[in-house]
Amino acid sequence: MKIYSHENQMLHQPKTYFSRGKMRQPQEKPERLIELLKAPKALGLTVITAKDIGIEPILDVHDLGYVDFLKNAYSEWMAVEEDMGEEVQTTIYMPNNNEGLGILAKAAKYQADGSAPIGKYSWTSIYWSAQTALNAAQNLLTQETEQNKIQVCITRPVGHHARKSAAGGFCYLNNAAIIAQYLLKKYNKVAIIDTDMHHGQGIQEIFYDRKDVLYTSVHGSPIDFYPVVAGHEHERGQGEGYGYNFNFPMPHGTDEAGFFDYVDKSLATVELFNPDVIVHVLGFDVYKDDPQAKCHVSTEGFQVLAQKLKELNKPLIVLVEGGYCIEKLNDNFQSFLSGL
Ligand SMILES: [Zn+2]
Repeated sequence: MKIYSHENQMLHQPKTYFSRGKMRQPQEKPERLIELLKAPKALGLTVITAKDIGIEPILDVHDLGYVDFLKNAYSEWMAVEEDMGEEVQTTIYMPNNNEGLGILAKAAKYQADGSAPIGKYSWTSIYWSAQTALNAAQNLLTQETEQNKIQVCITRPVGHHARKSAAGGFCYLNNAAIIAQYLLKKYNKVAIIDTDMHHGQGIQEIFYDRKDVLYTSVHGSPIDFYPVVAGHEHERGQGEGYGYNFNFPMPHGTDEAGFFDYVDKSLATVELFNPDVIVHVLGFDVYKDDPQAKCHVSTEGFQVLAQKLKELNKPLIVLVEGGYCIEKLNDNFQSFLSGL
């Protein structure tokens, strides 16, 4: 097993975000990374420092204009001679027909909601989060050895809500989509298994009309729950991608046994698809005491989840994404790693 991370992921430090009627305290904080890194250390596992694979694999998924925005938005925002606050943030979302040239217009085009603010160092962390994920993918492309069969990437900021050209839900670059696309350089079929508390609507959108990447997600019902605009069972893909998108929305309050019933259904679709390689979006926000949880997975449950993924017996890349019960991230991640 190999584990990757990069310290530059610490730099992104959101100050506030807007959601459900008010400004809220950030949950996706640098402290998450500190806690997550304690887990491999406690188990005597080495964490490899990710190296730079470059921007090209990112641009194979995301629009150049959007990536340019993520990189330069903060300095353009601060150059405006008005009180613009400390972070790039907008309450306007106008993705189409938006030809405005100012930074406020760009923010309206590229920030889908109020929960993905951009500060001075955000881009550095966003970039290295994607690079951390890409290291595992490149490693598999280079050599598929027993040691490379299971790889875990500790990534922050998180990625699965990021659209092709918009940030949202604490997400900026869609790491799962970026590495799935990158893995297609060698493999024919990639399955993305998402078990984060929230539906990864960004991944779904990006691959919705494609059959080379299966997306299957177990998540809290999107009725009155983020991302609200997608994640229902009837969303099955379109065109030649029809039948390659599987959503398993859980009723809010689902217990651990219920969660695993949905996980088993999700994994059954993966077995039918018979992928060459699997990308798992791991969210610790399904943990029973997580502030985002709408189900009740225990610490021991993460070990069971890992065992189920391992039993699929395919090359596996795990992306650690959500999880906001900071004091339990270490325990929960140790449990998951033990299962692998
Ligand atoms: Zn989540």
